[in-house]
Amino acid sequence: MEKCEKCGTELKVYYKWFCPKCEKPEPKVQTIYNLIRCLYYIEANGHPGFKKTAWDYIGETYNFSNDTVIGIYCPTEEDITDYGDDSKLISLIFEVFDIEGDTALFEISW
Ligand SMILES: [Zn+2]
Repeated sequence: MEKCEKCGTELKVYYKWFCPKCEKPEPKVQTIYNLIRCLYYIEANGHPGFKKTAWDYIGETYNFSNDTVIGIYCPTEEDITDYGDDSKLISLIFEVFDIEGDTALFEISW
């Protein structure tokens, strides 16, 4: 049984050990992009037809409805081989918006 060094409360584990008494949770701050605006932006900056093509692809690949936030994965080289060139559409979003990491959140509303 692990105890907090500061207050002696028994530590809990949720992904990692924490003290339920001393460690007040902070809201998570995560960047959320507006998907439709992103698609328009890429289209307007040198990729004619991007909005419709990418929108159709994302619609087939992910489940969402109005006012949802989805996590989109950046495809790896392997994914592009497996799922075809359309997955490069997603890579372009990550590239244009300088998104680090392999997932980004996008809100979708219409
Ligand atoms: Zn404590």
